[in-house]
Amino acid sequence: MSTFNDIDIECPECGEKYRGTVWVGVHAGQDPELKDLLLGGELNLVSCPECAQVAFQEHFLIYQEPAADLVAYVYPEGQRESETELRRLMLSGFQEAQGQMPAKYHLDYEPVLMFGLESLIELLEREIEIAEQSQIAQLICKVNQIATFVLRPYRARQLETVRVLPVVGDKPVPEGAEVIAGIDRLLSLNPALDLYAQLRDRIKADANWSLDSDAEKAKL
Ligand SMILES: [Zn+2]
Repeated sequence: MSTFNDIDIECPECGEKYRGTVWVGVHAGQDPELKDLLLGGELNLVSCPECAQVAFQEHFLIYQEPAADLVAYVYPEGQRESETELRRLMLSGFQEAQGQMPAKYHLDYEPVLMFGLESLIELLEREIEIAEQSQIAQLICKVNQIATFVLRPYRARQLETVRVLPVVGDKPVPEGAEVIAGIDRLLSLNPALDLYAQLRDRIKADANWSLDSDAEKAKL
C-alpha cells in the first residue's frame, strides 16, 4: 500500500509556511502511476499555495516493487554520512516488520539502502534497460535453442547482471566458462546487446566469478 504524510513546508521563494503532502511509501505494484511520476522526476514536487512555486520535498521514503524483488529505503541525500547506523536501523526495522506478518508473506530478499530519490531513479532506469535486453536475449535463445538460466531479480541486482544468462553446458548451476560460451553465441546473433558484452568481459576478468550453488532458477 502506498502512503503519504502531511508535513510542514516553508516556501523557498516567498517564505509562506503551509502544510503539504508527500509520499513516504510507494508500492509500485499497486500504484504504477506513482512509479511513472517518480521516473518523470515529479514525485513529491509540492506547489506553494501563495506563489505557486514548485519545490521538491526530500523525505524518507520506502519504495516497494514485489515483481522486481525490490524494497528500497531511500533516505535524503544529506544523511549519507550516517549510512552504517541507517543500515542497521533498516535491517532491524525490516526484520521486525517481517516478524509481524504471516510467514507466507515473508520476503526472502533484503531491502536496499539508498540516498536521494535520484539514486532510486537511476536504479529503476538501469533495471528497465536490463529487462529490455534480457527479454531480447530470452527470445533469441529460444529461437536458436540456446539454454538459459534465469536469475531472480534480486540475485541479478546483487550480481549487477542481466537476468537471462545464455548457457552452453549442462551443469545445474552454470559456471563462468559456460556463461561466456553462451554469451559468445548470443552476441554472434545480436552484437548490439551491450550489457551482455559487459558481463562477458566481467566474467573473463574475474577468476572467482560464480553463481551461488544455491542460485535459484526463476521465470522471466
Ligand atoms: Zn511561495
